[in-house]
Amino acid sequence: MSVSRRKFLAWMGGAGLSTAFGTKAYAASNKQFKGYPDTMGVLHDTTLCVGCRSCEDACNKVNNLPQPEKPFKELSVLDKTRRTDSKTFTVVNKYDNSKEPKNPVFRKIQCNHCLEPACASACFVNAFKKTKEGAVVYDASVCVGCRYCMVACPFNIPAYEYDKVLDPKVVKCTMCHPRLLEGKLPGCVEACPVEALTFGKREDLLKIARERIRKYPEKYVNHIYGENEMGGTSWLYLTGVAPEEIGMREDLGITPAPNLTSGALAVVPMVAGLWPVFLTGAYAISKRKEKIAAEEQAEAVSKAVAETNTAAEEKLAKALEKAAKEKEAAIQKEVKKALEEAAAKAQEEDKEEDA
Ligand code: SF4
Ligand code: SF4
Ligand code: SF4
Repeated sequence: MSVSRRKFLAWMGGAGLSTAFGTKAYAASNKQFKGYPDTMGVLHDTTLCVGCRSCEDACNKVNNLPQPEKPFKELSVLDKTRRTDSKTFTVVNKYDNSKEPKNPVFRKIQCNHCLEPACASACFVNAFKKTKEGAVVYDASVCVGCRYCMVACPFNIPAYEYDKVLDPKVVKCTMCHPRLLEGKLPGCVEACPVEALTFGKREDLLKIARERIRKYPEKYVNHIYGENEMGGTSWLYLTGVAPEEIGMREDLGITPAPNLTSGALAVVPMVAGLWPVFLTGAYAISKRKEKIAAEEQAEAVSKAVAETNTAAEEKLAKALEKAAKEKEAAIQKEVKKALEEAAAKAQEEDKEEDA
């Protein structure tokens, strides 16, 4: 398939890609993150999308995903609103068109490859990285499966391979990062027959989007979705109706997710740094609790033993006292008896002498 200028905007071509970006996909340390001015992205013009699902099909193929139950040519699946899952990195949904009721609006959904991703800031082992190319990629080898990224993503994108017993992973659109490094287009962009998807430098995509809005103000809403949402995303959208009418969140604000807790992506290492501290703290607290519990237990035991000993001693003393009293009484009784017997014997002897 030939690659049109619109699809492949400002793209350097295969050989130039590695040179342009270098081979280090994770070149930027989050601590020094200042954003990537030359980051790439995709502009999805929803006014051009015809809901053909060719992008879904291509995504399935380039990512070696399992075939869906219904073939991609089956358009009845569009009647139901879908979301991405562990076997589907992108879906196209159909929405009512308030401007032209006869023409539904189609919107493609996938990871938006945020400039400062919430998934990355939530991940305390740094499994997610924003690459220079624009793709937010995931390293399964360090993932501990906590799934905080899934909770953090404002677009509800990362999915978990719940059906895999061995080695389940978090999965999502990669912006076809391996293809980008080879100088190829994302699979979905390459497959779109109507150029509803344009790949290029994000700055250039913004210019194109502004130009389309300027030229066709009656056609477009004057808002490039993703320019500022959550600090900006690499995937940008042009719409003919209000974004919220086609299921796009308009309550996100423009603050990057990491800024909501601290500052830019610096929060990532901070979180990564704090987690061990927190865990160590939690461990220490739990150990302290255990120690206190053990001390309390020992104290309680010793108190119980002491109390038991005291009680036993008191009991013994009482028993001894009682025994002593009984013994003394018995002795006195015996002495009395002996004295009485002796007295009686003496009386009998006196009588015998008198007789
Ligand atoms: S859309 Fe979600 S998963 Fe994709 S980069 Fe943004 S926060 Fe991460
Ligand atoms: S960029 Fe690649 S992984 Fe993402 S939706 Fe397109 S084809 Fe799928
Ligand atoms: S291939 Fe293009 S036109 Fe077809 S559904 Fe995907 S984005 Fe829309």
